[in-house]
Amino acid sequence: MKGHFPIERMQSVETPFYYYDTELLRKTLRSINDEVSKHDNFMVHYAIKANANPKILNIICQAGLGADCVSGGEIQACINAGFSPRKIVYAGVGKSDWEIRLALQKNILCLNVESLAELEVIEEIAAEMGCTARIALRINPDVGAHTHAKITTGLAENKFGIAMEDMESIIERASEMEHVVFTGLHFHIGSQILNMGDFAALCNRINNLQNFLDRRRVKVENINVGGGLGIDYTHPNRVPIPDFKGYFDTYARFLHLRPGQKLHFELGRAVVAQCGTLITRTLYVKQGTAKQFVIVDAGMSDLIRPALYQAYHKIENISSDKAMMTYDVVGPICESSDVFGKAVDLNLTRRGDLIAIRSAGAYGEIMASHYNCRKIPQGYITEDL
Ligand SMILES: *Cc1c(COP(=O)(O)O)cnc(C)c1O
Repeated sequence: MKGHFPIERMQSVETPFYYYDTELLRKTLRSINDEVSKHDNFMVHYAIKANANPKILNIICQAGLGADCVSGGEIQACINAGFSPRKIVYAGVGKSDWEIRLALQKNILCLNVESLAELEVIEEIAAEMGCTARIALRINPDVGAHTHAKITTGLAENKFGIAMEDMESIIERASEMEHVVFTGLHFHIGSQILNMGDFAALCNRINNLQNFLDRRRVKVENINVGGGLGIDYTHPNRVPIPDFKGYFDTYARFLHLRPGQKLHFELGRAVVAQCGTLITRTLYVKQGTAKQFVIVDAGMSDLIRPALYQAYHKIENISSDKAMMTYDVVGPICESSDVFGKAVDLNLTRRGDLIAIRSAGAYGEIMASHYNCRKIPQGYITEDL
């Protein structure tokens, strides 16, 4: 089965473009809210970096989610979309002074601090501005995730966060600072994680850290476990909404929260990936010496995930219902890695056919570039077409 696309209305739109199914996005958000409401003190912040299209942000904001930012530009983008600063958290290994100033000036919920050097700069800037910074420490839990090497973030070898053995001394430093309030611990182990055991392993690690801090009478108000829940790239029609119940229940079961503690999540991909599709037009069908190529007008500048992470995206010819054939689907860019899929089964394809590259709502449009002096693709939601 193919996805349901307004093909007639798509014919007049300039390709390539992103198409977002807002009905699916709203259903996904309802599923998140239904599950979250079953647990006391759970709060979800949408990770803006997955997709910052203003129309998408607006729908997510209206569903009541908070926001997770990794740059000053993202803080600005989500405030413009209507997110309350009191629901914004901000992480990043390299925060510039202007970004710290912006976060403090907007009085966001929390800065997730990734080093002692950064903590000292935040104290200095907050003192200058005459305000107080609410901070959490991002701890590197040295927990592996069964995912692509380029998207693991919680291993000792990764650049992110503060080593566990430095946690206590940095909390102590923070407690001596006049313009910084320590409010919690932050973690994020990676992305596209489908094995709930990885999240359970993070819970065990956090339990141990909490026991250690309890013994030292350190009070932790907030635990933020980051994001990382994966989606089913192979079956976007059969599994359009991730298993949020399994995900939140894993944390409810394995993480031992202290009375009054709040648990924060930062989901990106799981919120937006399945509602987005890259629509591209077939330029040529070319018979190579060994195989047939479908050459489309989208390239790695529009969707870089296959080239960057060897990521799989389901590809469909939404203009044809003829017999299935096998093609390599490639873009026009001058790089051998500009390939969307090898040995893809598509209905017999001709010049002009529209091709849908599925599950492209996360880390798609937002990562588009001008490489080869190409245009950035437009993003349309259901209501636009
Ligand atoms: C990227 C990122 C996320 C979101 O990751 P997903 O895999 O898209 O859920 C959450 N928190 C932090 C700190 C991140 O860098």
